[in-house]
Amino acid sequence: MIKNILTNKCPRCGKGRIFKNPNIYFNFGKPEMNESCPKCGFKNHKEPGFFYGAMYVSYGLTVGQGIMTFLVASPFFAERFDLRIIGVIALVLILLSSFNMRISRILWLYLFKSYKR
Ligand SMILES: [Zn+2]
Repeated sequence: MIKNILTNKCPRCGKGRIFKNPNIYFNFGKPEMNESCPKCGFKNHKEPGFFYGAMYVSYGLTVGQGIMTFLVASPFFAERFDLRIIGVIALVLILLSSFNMRISRILWLYLFKSYKR
């Protein structure tokens, strides 16, 4: 299942793609989702506003990545709280933002796959 999430695959059949573009990692284009799975017909757009909830997933991911970046980057600075680390964290989060947006929608779909069709 984790492999299916990371490869942008349908929650039900694991074959069709959720996003039209297969690259969910470094892709700053407009994210286009399939209305429903091209292989099994699983509905991705369940109701209007369904993906607002994905913002909570995205927020959690962003906070986690910010903390991870801080922990990884802080040994490279001499001072304990060097303000330049904020720039490093911001850069990492900007680079990850497109991935976060896509992966949070995919995770949101997987969270609710068994409830509604
Ligand atoms: Zn499917």
